[in-house]
Amino acid sequence: MSATQERTAVDAVPTQLFIGGEWIDASGGATLDVEDPSTGEVIASVADATPDDAKAALDAACAVQETWATHAPRERGEILRRAYESMVARADELALVMTLEMGKPLAESKAEVTYAAEFLRWFSEEAVRIEGRFGTAPNGVGRLITMKQPVGPCYAITPWNFPAAMGTRKIGPAIAAGCTMIIKPAQQTPLSMLALVKIFEEAGLPAGVLNVLTASSSAEVSAPIIGDPRLRKLTFTGSTAVGIKLVEQSAPGLLRTSMELGGNAPFLVFADADVDAAVEGAVIAKMRNIGEACTAANRFHVASSIADEFAEKLARKLGEMKVGRGVEDDVKVGPLIDATQRGKVAELVDDAKDKGASVLVGGSEREGAGYFFDPTVLAGVSPDARLLKEEIFGPVAPVIGFDDEEAAIAAANDTEYGLVAYLYTNDIKRAFRVSEKLQTGMIGLNQGLVSNAAAPFGGVKASGFGREGGREGIDEYLEIKYIAMAM
Ligand code: NAD
Repeated sequence: MSATQERTAVDAVPTQLFIGGEWIDASGGATLDVEDPSTGEVIASVADATPDDAKAALDAACAVQETWATHAPRERGEILRRAYESMVARADELALVMTLEMGKPLAESKAEVTYAAEFLRWFSEEAVRIEGRFGTAPNGVGRLITMKQPVGPCYAITPWNFPAAMGTRKIGPAIAAGCTMIIKPAQQTPLSMLALVKIFEEAGLPAGVLNVLTASSSAEVSAPIIGDPRLRKLTFTGSTAVGIKLVEQSAPGLLRTSMELGGNAPFLVFADADVDAAVEGAVIAKMRNIGEACTAANRFHVASSIADEFAEKLARKLGEMKVGRGVEDDVKVGPLIDATQRGKVAELVDDAKDKGASVLVGGSEREGAGYFFDPTVLAGVSPDARLLKEEIFGPVAPVIGFDDEEAAIAAANDTEYGLVAYLYTNDIKRAFRVSEKLQTGMIGLNQGLVSNAAAPFGGVKASGFGREGGREGIDEYLEIKYIAMAM
């Protein structure tokens, strides 16, 4: 990839706010720098919204809510379908922008663009399937009718790790349901969202239905929106700590919320599993998105009889992965998002080492520009190591042995989080027995990837509540109204 190609891709992305169908500068005139985490260089500056801009975005979303709600479902679906097709057609340029602002290898960015587009296709099909019920009251006298209606104006806040997909799985169902939306991407990765919003504009989405705010202080621009009684829903993907703050802010207004929060996924390998298949799955579950995924396997609990074999094979695979700028050929591991994130990963690895863990591969930061950390496998990890409790968000795989099924389940559930668990076994009864006992919203059974636009994504415990994608995804944007009818 040449420097000119990189520049051209970034220059094609709008850098202003999109409010009420207009691209405008931030009212304070300030801008926010966007950095390439593989070089530390600034690649673009985008508008830095103020609380006044936030209010203007909410005004715009509220102004068109009523007309948008009565827009023909088929037309709403067709706009989503056109946006889907445009994303697929431009997957290469969108992927390049994503890699430049977020760091993941180009092939992974392209996979995210395709995955993100799938939500638009899925919800384009769901827009025409919003249905109610009709029933006779138990006493036979009256009739009970239920209908589903759009919730109203929504506010979406998204993280930097999946800059497009975390947006489309909120925008897709909101548009399908007839809701208007203001979306605020993470300050580290605003470009992918701005490019996406432009695609919606070109797909014919009416002005005001989708508005985007980019801002250096998310707290400042979010507070006036969340505190306004006209807002009817907040949907957030990000860390548990911020999710808790947002639920607190939403409480006085009893604002409806969806929270897709952090994870600490266990990866269980039983002695009856195919070890090589488990290692393949582990590479995906751990290394997708450089380990910076809420679904990333954090803790590898492996039957003691095969733990050494599993750890050695995993270490060999991770050691073979080429680390570098995501735009370079054959690179499989890009940089972490910033110095803070890399510092946290190093701290967790050092803590595990201090408590007796041995490093089978990797274990340290790379010298020079960019926030690189070598793929790492740790064995002999002490139960009190911090990385078994805290979300690692980096390319680090701790392997821990277990003696029996009960111990494996107890270890897997020994976390405040409950997003996803991975389970490798060739015993079908064990697969169901263990799946029923795992305290998570999702399970990868003999596979290291669960994300699918057609399935309900979400967690329990400190991983939040609400589901995105699947048939359940649109219900997050619909209210149920019941009509009691006399006969
Ligand atoms: P983060 O919580 O720091 O930030 C997420 C978003 O919230 C960003 O847009 C940020 O600007 C905004 N934000 C931060 N503080 C805020 C405040 N006080 N008020 C309003 N907005 C605020 O998380 P992150 O570091 O961007 O993302 C990583 C986290 O996201 C991880 O914990 C990861 O597990 C989680 N995540 C969860 C899912 C899921 O679906 N469960 C998916 C991806 C990422």
